[in-house]
Order: sequence, then C-alpha cells, then structure tokens
Amino acid sequence: MEVKTSLLDNMIGVGDMVLLEPLSEESFINNLKKRFDHSEIYTYIGSVVVSINPYRSLPIYSPEKVEEYRNRNFYELSPHIFALSDEAYRSLRDQDKDQCILITGESGAGKTEASKLVMSYVAAVCGKGAEVNQVKEQLLQSNPVLEAFGNAKTVRNDNSSRFGKYMDIEFDFKGDPLGGVISNYLLEKSRVVKQPRGERNFHIFYQILSGATEDMLNKLKLQRDFSRYNYLSLDSSRVNGVDDAVNFRTVRVRESMAQLNPRHMTQNCKASILHFQEWELKEICELTGIDQSVLERAFSFRTLEAKQEKVSTTLNVAQAYYARDALAKNLYSRLFSWLVTRINESIKAQTKVRKKVMGVLDIYGFEIFEDNSFEQFIINYCNEKLQQIFIELTLKEEQEEYIREDIEWTHIEYFNNAIICDLIENNQTGILAMLDEECLRPGTVTDDTFLEKLNQVCATHQHFESRMSKCSRFLNDTSLPHSCFRIQHYAGKVMYQVEGFVDKNNDLLYRDLSQAMWKANHSLIKALFPEGNPAKINLKRPPTAGSQFKASVATLMKNLQTKNPNYIRCIKPNDKKAAHIFSDALVCHQVRYLGLLENVRVRRAGYAFRQPYELCLERYKMLCKQTWPHWRGPARAGVEVLFNELEIPVEEYSYGRSKIFIRNPRTLFKLEDLRKQRL
Ligand code: ADP
Ligand code: MG
Repeated sequence: MEVKTSLLDNMIGVGDMVLLEPLSEESFINNLKKRFDHSEIYTYIGSVVVSINPYRSLPIYSPEKVEEYRNRNFYELSPHIFALSDEAYRSLRDQDKDQCILITGESGAGKTEASKLVMSYVAAVCGKGAEVNQVKEQLLQSNPVLEAFGNAKTVRNDNSSRFGKYMDIEFDFKGDPLGGVISNYLLEKSRVVKQPRGERNFHIFYQILSGATEDMLNKLKLQRDFSRYNYLSLDSSRVNGVDDAVNFRTVRVRESMAQLNPRHMTQNCKASILHFQEWELKEICELTGIDQSVLERAFSFRTLEAKQEKVSTTLNVAQAYYARDALAKNLYSRLFSWLVTRINESIKAQTKVRKKVMGVLDIYGFEIFEDNSFEQFIINYCNEKLQQIFIELTLKEEQEEYIREDIEWTHIEYFNNAIICDLIENNQTGILAMLDEECLRPGTVTDDTFLEKLNQVCATHQHFESRMSKCSRFLNDTSLPHSCFRIQHYAGKVMYQVEGFVDKNNDLLYRDLSQAMWKANHSLIKALFPEGNPAKINLKRPPTAGSQFKASVATLMKNLQTKNPNYIRCIKPNDKKAAHIFSDALVCHQVRYLGLLENVRVRRAGYAFRQPYELCLERYKMLCKQTWPHWRGPARAGVEVLFNELEIPVEEYSYGRSKIFIRNPRTLFKLEDLRKQRL
C-alpha cells in the first residue's frame, strides 16, 4: 500500500479510515463530513470505497480524470470510484481473476449512478476498435431502456430503481469486452396499480403520453392528459428537471438499437395497462386482439378446477377489481422480464471462447419505513445475505493475505448474521418456509393464521419479536401491534405488518385471466402468458414469490462467491435531495447499519497497513543514512535497517514475504512526520 500524503492530509480529513486516529463513531462521521465539505465524496476503508451522494454534478468524472486514474496504483491518487474500477479491471485483465462490484446503500444514496460510473470507466479504458466499440455501446445503451421501465419517482429519489439488477460484463483474455448478461430481481410491480402519495408510476407511462406523436396516441387509443388515468398519480405527474418527452425519444432509439422490435407490440401492452384502470375493455381488445366476450367473462367468473371437476363462481365487485389489478401487474412485470431477455439477446457475447467476467450489482438497500410489508421483508432478506458474504469475503481476503505473506493470523471477533438469515430462509423453520406452508395449506388462510404460525415456531428466536404468542417476551411491548412481527436485522429492528404477506407471496392470477390473455391475437401477449394454454394445463401451482426470490438470491450469492469482491458503500447525506447538506444523524444511522466501523476494525485488527518493501523504502529511505540516497541490496533488508535505525518497537510491525505489516496507524504518522521535517 503506497501511502500518499493526500491520504493523510488533515485539512480535508484522512482518505482512508484505517488511518483514523482515534477511531470512534464520532471521528468517523466528522472525517466524512470534513471531506464532504471539501467536495471529497469518496473515502476508503482499506479497499472499500465509501461514497456520499453530492446531489450536484462534480467535475471529477471527465475524460482527463479517467486518464489520471488509468493504470495507477489504488492508493496513489485521492480516493475515487475510478481507482476501484481500475483496480478491478486490471486484476481481471492481468491476473485473470473474475471480479464483482457490490454496490449497497439505501434508496437515493447513489448506487445506480455509481454502477454507471463503473461501467463507463471500464468502457473507457478497455479495448479499442470498431467492433469493440459497438459492444460497449450496446452494453451502455441497455440502461436507458431498463430505467424507463424499471425506475420511478419516489419520495426518496426522483429516479429510483424499482428492481434489483446484476450485470455480468464479459471480456476476452486481452481484456476486450465481448458482451454481457443482465439478471433482474423482484420488480416492484404493485407500483403499476398504486403509488404512495407524492410518487409516480414507472417513467415509461408518462414518457408515452408526453412523447408519442398524435398519430401514435390515436393508434394506442390514448389521450395525452395524464390526469385521465387513475393508475398515474395525479399530484406529481411532472418531475423537476426531467423531460418525459425527450426521454421517450431516447428510449425509442435505444429500443431499436437493442432490437426490441417490433416495438409497437410493447406499446400495445403498455397502453393496455392504462386502459385496464378505466375498464376500457373495448380498447384493450382492439389493441391486443382478444375477443371482448372472452375478456369480459374472465373478469366476471372464476373457474376452480380440481382433478376432473370444474366449478365456476361469479366474482363480486371487489374480486373483479382485484383480478384487474393482478392482471395489470402481471402483464407489466412479465413485459419487463421479456425486455430483459431481449436486451440480453442483443448484448450476448458472440463467441464461445472462455470469458473473464466483471459483475456489477446494483440492488435495493436496506429499507425501514413506517409501514413495512412483504416487499421490505424480501429486500431486507437480500441485504442480510449480502452482508453475510461481505463479512465472509472481507475476512477471508484478510486471512488469505496473511497466509500469502506468512504472517500469523489472529482471530477476529465479529457479529455473524448467519443466524438472522437462518430465521428467514431455513427450509423447515424459516419465515419464508412457513409462509409457503400457509399459502399451500387447504382451508382458510389469512395473514393472521400466518402470524400465529410464526409465533409458534419463532417465538424463542433471539431475533424475532411478536406479542401474539403466550410465552412471548414482548407481551407488554405496546409499541408492537398485534398484527406485526419485528425482526432484529443486523442493520436495526424492523417491524413488519403481516397484512398482505399471504396474498403477495401467492401472487395469484386467476387461470381464467391467463387463459383469456393466451387467446390474444397478439404474439407477444400470448407468449407472456404461456400457462394460459389449455393444452398445457398444469394443476401444480407456480412457485410462490418468496420461494422464487430465495432461489434467485441463492444463485446470485453462489455467483458472487466465485468472484473477487470490490465494495462501494453509498451514503445519503440528507433527506432533501439537496447539495451541500450533511445531516450527522442520518449519516450516523447509515454508518451504523452498514457496519462501517466494524469494517475498519476488521481491517485494523491485525495490522492496519501493509506496504510492499520497495514502496516503503522509496518513501522513507531519506530518514536513514544507510539507505539514503541509494540502498543496494534487497528492499526488505533496506526496510529492516531503516526500522532498526528509527527504533520502531518490534511489536509494532512484522515482515511479510513481500510487504511490511504495520500494526498501528500512529507508527505510520510518525514516519510521515519525520519525513515532513526532512523535506
Ligand atoms: P440509488 O440508486 O442509490 O437509489 P441514484 O444512483 O439513483 O440512487 O442517485 C439518486 C440521485 O442522486 C441521482 O439521480 C443524481 O441526481 C444524484 N447522484 C447520485 N450520485 C451522484 C454523483 N456521483 N454525482 C452527482 N450526483 C449524484
Ligand atoms: Mg437505483
């Protein structure tokens, strides 16, 4: 590790938290704040990058900056997301190690921007030539389309991603890009039919209505006026600084670049969703080629099939509304998955050669709202898993370095959140398993029966709290309503409302509806509802939302574990989406639940620093007559002479194979001070 003075400059705070002395929550926050006030939004914890959203554009991403960081040592320049990107890319190219970039933080903290910065940096430094450029272009262009369909304005972020995204970028042995694969996780489809106050539906709906030509609107039987559509919230249909019409044109261009033709088919789907809200069945049927009587029937009756029998019941008004919303949500989320598949086809590597891979994960961060439901539960579960591999991998990496360098490994105490993951995902007694069991059980199933079940099985779990069970420790805790349970996550306690858990997990679409959709004379819609094909009637129910998510998270974790991790921890400085405001309390909260202090402690538990002998000697040789101006002989021997001469206590350092390991940051400060005095 080369330590540049920039990392130690006290005016703008230390660039690496490992050097912070003394280390406390207060000094940690103060250091971040000092740096933030000097427009230094990046700070390291060893190799981890902490990033604070500046909420204004900073001149630190120019092509000149790219050149500056290109092929430089990680610690040579001031902390930057480009340094991490460069390190990851070079390690992939030169050492043949697959990489992953893990970006975490809460909504609005800057994850998506960070993922785009990493991708654009890598695109800027990798490969040259027309063919390679086309691959890069395809990869970068997938973003606007995905954002139009998967992002929305929320209270926390005007461009909030409402889905999790993991993208593998593939390279050949020279480090030239070949293509990519995107995986998407749990789109927040409930937004299609209902948005919280002050929030919007997905961008694409506003984009069509603002940007489509009159002719196109006529074809889609739509009107330009947002307020006509109840699915589009009325109070916030425009977002400051966002031009939906311009974005629509961009998306259309990108769509055709990604070969998402025939485009009009996706337009029909989107338009149909808007018509659903108004029960405009005639319009829907004209757009989709469904026979109107078929659709009307599907919204009026529900057929239950058991073995040889078929029973038809009439839907009441509430059930019809429920069916309509379920269909709109399903149509949209299937359309979204279809889009991802199409984008993947267009960015797929065109070769079978062995590939090196860089994965970029931009996934929703930990969420604690006033009302937390199934969605937050799932999201927080995913974050528990990510935290777990973070702990595992950081410790593993430390340990491996010690072994490589032949330094004795000291055991580090840390909180292992495996116990919380188990509470959620255990195959027999986990919350998800019990939810599934409830959903599949015959008889009357409600959210309350689910909660009762949780109370029976989890009452004694250390991280589970509820009041219903008789033996509960929380019987008198009035802050915990009877309809809720609470989990003590690694990042804090979250109270979940059970209402809606069963329904959202079931994610049921009446078969009558999928059959009606399958009958559409519209190849895309037909393809989106394959289970509606009567020839393929399958009485087995599809996997629940929870079990699907659990399976895809497991796959993701397996994938990440095979790669060398690079971490970006994003922090939101204020709740106002405003520049220059740093709220201590808000930052402190995030620092706590991201476990950043613990991260520094792990990094410092053994030796706070390590530095190759050559670099160490080069920097400090002036402090010793025998090594100045030239040391002839192995660098390690030079460092030994130097440290002896300076009388640094032997318990303060150890000699590794290629690096010197220094226990305490103070030792380094002392060296730096001596050096300054000489200069
Ligand atoms: P997240 O994905 O974590 O929810 P975003 O990446 O969408 O958050 O960031 C929210 C907003 O904050 C962006 O739309 C942008 O305006 C601003 N922002 C985030 N990162 C930066 C940055 N590095 N420089 C300037 N503005 C940023
Ligand atoms: Mg985002």
